[in-house]
Amino acid sequence: MFLEPHFKGQRSGWIEVVCGPMFSGKTEELIRRLKRAKIANQKVAIYKPAKDTRYDKNNVVSHDANFLVSTVVSSSKELLTIDRDINVVGIDEVQFFDDDLPDVVQELAMNGIRVVISGLDMDFKGKPFGCMPALLAVAEYVTKLHAICTHCGNLATHSYRMSEDQDTVVLGETDVYEARCRTCYAMGNILRLR
Ligand code: ADP
Ligand code: MG
Repeated sequence: MFLEPHFKGQRSGWIEVVCGPMFSGKTEELIRRLKRAKIANQKVAIYKPAKDTRYDKNNVVSHDANFLVSTVVSSSKELLTIDRDINVVGIDEVQFFDDDLPDVVQELAMNGIRVVISGLDMDFKGKPFGCMPALLAVAEYVTKLHAICTHCGNLATHSYRMSEDQDTVVLGETDVYEARCRTCYAMGNILRLR
């Protein structure tokens, strides 16, 4: 389990990434970290991309219906206008943001803010998703989570799309996606090609 670094003295910023496939608990973990920051009397702000319209427009919500009130942003540069007294910034579904996000979160961290971000590491094709590779490279702390493979019960690393849609972004839940281990993910794709 991730434990917050303990800093005495001067305030310091850093970046934490929580990544993994769908249903792996990324949003739950983001919410857990931000709730603990609030308990530590930190001023917290949570953001999500305008593209993510699942569940609720104004809340970051996990598949388990845990939630935190959030602000919707349509471009990463909007994050640079946050209040000066914010200590911790949380961002969910970072794979949906534009390519400026790695520079933006670095600027926030340089300004002494703790940035906790969560998102998919791979798209439904098993390829690195959006700006996630760059975020992983610049983060101080990386947590890779796993879901449970809905076919064999092993650890799931992939988000398997059950529909034939080939767009990179197709919003959906268990109706469209399954968490699968590497083998069951590959088997699904092979069977589909037959
Ligand atoms: P993520 O943000 O990674 O998509 P959430 O934090 O929203 O995930 O939800 C995680 C929750 O999803 C789990 O606590 C569990 O209740 C539920 N869940 C549904 N399907 C699965 C699965 N295949 N493996 C693990 N958890 C699952
Ligand atoms: Mg999530």
